[in-house]
Amino acid sequence: MRLLNCNDIDNQYGYDGHLGVVHYEGHTHFRTWAPLATGVYLNLYLDGEGNNKIETIPLERRENGVWFVEIMREIDGDFYTYTYEYDNCRQIETIDIYANACGVNGKRGAVVKFERTNPEGWEQSTRVDCQKPTDAVVYELHVKDFSVNPNSGVPKYDRGKFSAFSVDGTYFEDISTCLEHLKELGVTHVQLLPIYDYCTVDESKNDDSQYNWGYDPANYFCLEGSYSSNPYNPYVRIREFKELVMTLHNNGIGVIMDVVFNHTKETEQSAFEKSFSGYYYRLNPDGNFSNASGCGNEIASEHKMVRKYICDCVKFWATEYKLDGFRFDLMAVLDIETLKLIRQELDKIDPRILMYGEGWTGGMPALSGEKLGFKHNSYNFPEIGLFNDTFRDSIKGGTFDSYSRGYIGQNFHAVNYINRGMAGSCEHSQLPNNKDGCFAFNPSQTINYCEAHDNHTLWDKLSICAKNESEQERIAMDKMAGAMVILAQGVPFIHAGQDFLRSKPRIPKEGEPINELTIVDENSYNAPVSTNGIDWSKKEKYIDVFNYYKALIALRKKYPHFRYAYRDEVEKHIRFTNGGDNNIVCYTIIDTVDEQETTLFLALNPYKEEKYVRFPEGGYMTELDENGQENSSVLYGGTNMPPVSVMVYRRVN
Ligand code: CA
Repeated sequence: MRLLNCNDIDNQYGYDGHLGVVHYEGHTHFRTWAPLATGVYLNLYLDGEGNNKIETIPLERRENGVWFVEIMREIDGDFYTYTYEYDNCRQIETIDIYANACGVNGKRGAVVKFERTNPEGWEQSTRVDCQKPTDAVVYELHVKDFSVNPNSGVPKYDRGKFSAFSVDGTYFEDISTCLEHLKELGVTHVQLLPIYDYCTVDESKNDDSQYNWGYDPANYFCLEGSYSSNPYNPYVRIREFKELVMTLHNNGIGVIMDVVFNHTKETEQSAFEKSFSGYYYRLNPDGNFSNASGCGNEIASEHKMVRKYICDCVKFWATEYKLDGFRFDLMAVLDIETLKLIRQELDKIDPRILMYGEGWTGGMPALSGEKLGFKHNSYNFPEIGLFNDTFRDSIKGGTFDSYSRGYIGQNFHAVNYINRGMAGSCEHSQLPNNKDGCFAFNPSQTINYCEAHDNHTLWDKLSICAKNESEQERIAMDKMAGAMVILAQGVPFIHAGQDFLRSKPRIPKEGEPINELTIVDENSYNAPVSTNGIDWSKKEKYIDVFNYYKALIALRKKYPHFRYAYRDEVEKHIRFTNGGDNNIVCYTIIDTVDEQETTLFLALNPYKEEKYVRFPEGGYMTELDENGQENSSVLYGGTNMPPVSVMVYRRVN
């Protein structure tokens, strides 16, 4: 491929104005940026696919390589593409990279009046009032997983769709499911796996045989059509998604969008390449596509018009859909300057909007590491959160070694990361500084988790690394992990169904041995619904585990002790104490609630047997035991802790 000098292009043609479609009463403006094109044409269509072109109209070249045309009639609901011409001969047709609505399978953009997409009550719908990131409890959820099974309690028509979220009164027998489940659990935010338009599900086939997580972006400004009741009508998916957002907002739950600006599914055939070949992706010096995403390409976020594109896109979702946060997939593919700019733009819209991501890549980037959103560069972007893989693996054992065990599995080497993790993974004077363990500038920068859509569920991991332990013992390990995630300083993140021992069952392929590794799915991105769909009957079976998670969340919300945003607060309020055993992590959190000093004492017993833990001075009652219960008996001096448990005590005298 011809290598462009993108710095020169940015200097000469960089453009700050609006791109895309602007709809006015009776006329419409189209703008696209293509500085080296020798011609650009607008193709108008009646439909999102098929042979139904209305007309082709040339655009006029304007300043900074922007091409413009004004259509002086009503074209609401029409579809469009651009044809870019290079070197006065080569013509290529593509969807507008700025199209914010589209037809089936995202082949053509659609001209939509967004004010007509608002469901009744939308104007009153507001973001949840999350004052600081550490007030959030995030629940990661795939739209289809949520409701696809009949035991979701959702009518058949809505299963697996955006509209399932707007169904209330959802139960399986007397167990709450779907929306009622989210309300009962008490999470503050739902983080949806990709809901932008992705490639791998054929939207024209409305069936349950297709499944994908959606990390294969097609159109960044458009919604995925397969989650709508009608992917052909561009209005429908927009209205149904707004109903989802509004319903969750009305129930006090925010919506976080998973954005994948690190790569596109297509490379040569992508809309980026067709619009302006060689500009939107990072290339190696030999002209080949660099591949820091591990998916065939990496987006050149540092180029001026790519940076603008990503910013424009995030701003669009934040304002048009009133979203409450953004989770950046493989965030270290993006450059820090772009990430900081996005944070600044979000602050202008609403500083409560959350922003965090994965501080790693899926391959070697073509830009030097210190410029990128890696976790080890965290101090350069303290306002942006990062998934805490160090704490994750210390809790449960190595993610990429199924048999390795963590602190909950009596791996005591992990203890030096567990104490730091509980204190928000930032510097604390009682703990020697440690690069990995103390990566967070503030506790609000760490996203604490031990299960996500990637890799084994926690329960499946335990079924491998603790396969010789009883189910009861594994449940204790699971609950201990959940307690650590939810009660640690930082932002707790739970994978949907983790709260009732979610599993991803797998049918071994023919000829494969049947063992603990082959009967669960480690990477279920395109696995069938039988693997990925949430089985709500498991909630009934493991209702005690669910009630425990619910109690943990309630406790976190009850006490500001668990939700410090800044490291100096952690330093001031948290004191590690000597509980009598180096592997038992314990500490007090002293803070004032309603003008009253309240001391909480947390102790973590990773041993398989009861262990005596020494209290600090005073008498303590049990605020939360291994079953999520309180007990008002006053204890002095110390007490025996149950095996593999987290206990929370409160000082009463
Ligand atoms: Ca799609």
